[in-house]
Amino acid sequence: MPGEVASPGPSVGRHYAGDVAIDLHTHSTASDGTEAPGVVVQRAVEAGLTTLALTDHDTTLGWAEASDAAQALGIRLVRGIEMSCSRRGQSIHLLAYLPDPDHPALVAELARARESRDTRLDRMVALMARDGIPVTVESVRAQVENGATAGRPHIADALVAAGVVAHRDEAFARWLGNDSRYYVGHYAPDPVQAVVVVRAAGGVPVIAHPWSGTRGRVVRDALVEEMAAGGLAGLEVHHRDHDADAVRHLAALARSLDLLVTGSSDYHGEGKLNRLGEFTTEPAVLEAIEALATGAAVVQP
Ligand code: AMP
Ligand code: FE
Ligand code: FE
Ligand code: ZN
Repeated sequence: MPGEVASPGPSVGRHYAGDVAIDLHTHSTASDGTEAPGVVVQRAVEAGLTTLALTDHDTTLGWAEASDAAQALGIRLVRGIEMSCSRRGQSIHLLAYLPDPDHPALVAELARARESRDTRLDRMVALMARDGIPVTVESVRAQVENGATAGRPHIADALVAAGVVAHRDEAFARWLGNDSRYYVGHYAPDPVQAVVVVRAAGGVPVIAHPWSGTRGRVVRDALVEEMAAGGLAGLEVHHRDHDADAVRHLAALARSLDLLVTGSSDYHGEGKLNRLGEFTTEPAVLEAIEALATGAAVVQP
């Protein structure tokens, strides 16, 4: 949950080598970030990053605009996706770096997830409206960019626009959390299947914030092992949602399974407290990711 771990501030990289600052997890208006892809790139330059990954939920929609901005502004761009996965009701997020965006199996999985997200959002809104919460499908759609991946943050934005809550976090706390009566799930592939599809598309799969879940809903070691056997490449160990115990555990797990260790901000613009560069990734790890990827190249300025 945002806010539980004190922010180290916008310009402090916890894992920082020389003058290289690499942040491999951010969101734009192509999903539930609040800034356009080109603006995220601009903010990354301002924050002093040398490499940025754009990883919108279940889409590559922001890649083109972000690539143009990266070339214009002189920063390296790792094109990525954060794929929603699910096993027995538990949500697992999988970062996919540099996959072929036209790989048919990947395209099909992403489209299926986005379509299911649309239906599920309508169902959540209907349940909320029935209880008198002032939200409509139209007011929520107005918050989603054309073609973008719709999510609960857009319901929150509609409630903010209506003056019902002050910010997204309040909407989540009151109505949108995973254990809310209004929560409706959506289709998402099994995490092992997702790892296999990402690899088939030439991408590099890394589990996003594996221990951000609350009360035992963390990604269990046995599932990480299963995913590793299927081709998982790394764990996002350094993340705002991980306390010192989580970092210790996940770092040891990564070592024992020979997985890469990344650190990232999970920036969502103004939608969350996460600041660009608050956690970063070692240059050698990015090199390893680039060496494994065959689906797409890092955009060079
Ligand atoms: P969804 O993808 O529709 O299941 O919604 C989950 C998304 O909501 C996550 O990717 C987060 O970015 C966002 N989110 C979760 N909790 C909060 C919160 N308390 N405040 C703002 N955004 C949140
Ligand atoms: Fe998000
Ligand atoms: Fe996530
Ligand atoms: Zn994310």
